Amino acid sequence: MDISPCGHEFAISLLQMRSENDLYKRIQTILTELLPDIPMAMYLAPSLSDKERLKLLALSSSKTPPDLEYLLARAETLKHKHILFGDNHLCIVLRSNKAIMGLLWIGEKLPTARSYLIAHLINVFYHQLNTLALSRIDPLTQLLNRQTFDDKVIEITTGEGFVIEREQQGVRKWYLALFDIDHFKIVNDNFGHVIGDEVLLLVAQQLKDNFRAEDFVFRYGGEEFAVLFQAHDRSEAGSLLNRVRKVISAFNFPQVKKLTISIGYTVLEEIAQVSELVHEADLALYYAKKHGRDQVVDFEELGIAGQAKAETDIELF
Ligand code: GH3
Ligand code: MG
Ligand code: MG
Repeated sequence: MDISPCGHEFAISLLQMRSENDLYKRIQTILTELLPDIPMAMYLAPSLSDKERLKLLALSSSKTPPDLEYLLARAETLKHKHILFGDNHLCIVLRSNKAIMGLLWIGEKLPTARSYLIAHLINVFYHQLNTLALSRIDPLTQLLNRQTFDDKVIEITTGEGFVIEREQQGVRKWYLALFDIDHFKIVNDNFGHVIGDEVLLLVAQQLKDNFRAEDFVFRYGGEEFAVLFQAHDRSEAGSLLNRVRKVISAFNFPQVKKLTISIGYTVLEEIAQVSELVHEADLALYYAKKHGRDQVVDFEELGIAGQAKAETDIELF
């Protein structure tokens, strides 16, 4: 089989993938097509910044891959080379600068051209994975951006996001909270945009520090943030949000000194539309703004849950 045009098409198809999930599926299909019935195992760093622990993404497990530590130790000895040829196996190493970010182990000796083609495709895959990951990040705060928000809510409400069950803690639900900095325009007017940006950065940092690693913190708009987090019930969710609100109101911002935030939240129902959920949290936030700011409001408390959910004529932020 002439593999070169085929290899080119494979590379292009990887670059066309627009979600990490599709990209993982695509590389899996390509590898299975190029290496039918050959045992493979791929290890990848869980995030761009997490070089320490490579996670196993098994591709085909008919033969046990060698110990990861052994592969890593061998890869380290190769310095900047990308392919490690063993007697009866092959290992392709993915690097970012010098750090090893991933390994593809193939449990058979392959023709050299095929090995290089696969190494090339794995690198294209990894490059595209990085590009997609970066496109999800807000450059100022390094939080997830608005574009990622809808996908995450859909992932959660369709069940794919309900992955982490902490032991002996019972079932927890997901909540959506919208945070809006109070009177932020005054910060910009009095101190300028550079200080304004620094405040956004510091608020983002506080949010990251005060939610769990498995929660999702987004920069939703200019000075608005959204958080998807888990709690057992609405009152626990409210206490958690109040704790974060107090952390921010107690924080000493350079020059600006004190700031407050208003928060509206709602529970994520599996059947709801993303826009409907945001609308609910937005109504609660609107209520908080109208009633003195620096507070947390549960959508359910508004007394309009159910009957006036679709009160679309209320002007929102
Ligand atoms: P409220 O308490 O009602 O929320 O008052 P506010 O002044 O915070 O609300 P408003 O939405 O009127 O103003 C938000 C301001 O946020 C206006 C805009 O200039 C500022 N802003 C939005 N994005 C950025 C940004 O990226 N950097 C800076 N420095 N300011 C931003
Ligand atoms: Mg606003
Ligand atoms: Mg504001």
